[in-house]
Amino acid sequence: MAGTVARIFVNISSSLQLHLHSFPFVSNPRTTMAAPVHVVSPLAAPEPTPGCDVCRALARERQEAAGSGNWSTVTDCNIELRRHHRVHP
Ligand SMILES: [Zn+2]
Repeated sequence: MAGTVARIFVNISSSLQLHLHSFPFVSNPRTTMAAPVHVVSPLAAPEPTPGCDVCRALARERQEAAGSGNWSTVTDCNIELRRHHRVHP
């Protein structure tokens, strides 16, 4: 039994080596491309439209959230402002 297990391991091991030798470029750092890096600029914070109560309320909530370091709420307010601007007159 142990001999059978060892033989299977050797067979798998040699098959794997054969497979890797078929693709030498995979393990060569000089010929392997690095993972892509995607860099995008963060969106600018939307500005409230003067005279609009909804914009003013969202801008105020955003300012209070930023003051307390609640960046999740700052992001939520920015999203709401952008959505609101789509339907803004
Ligand atoms: Zn508005």
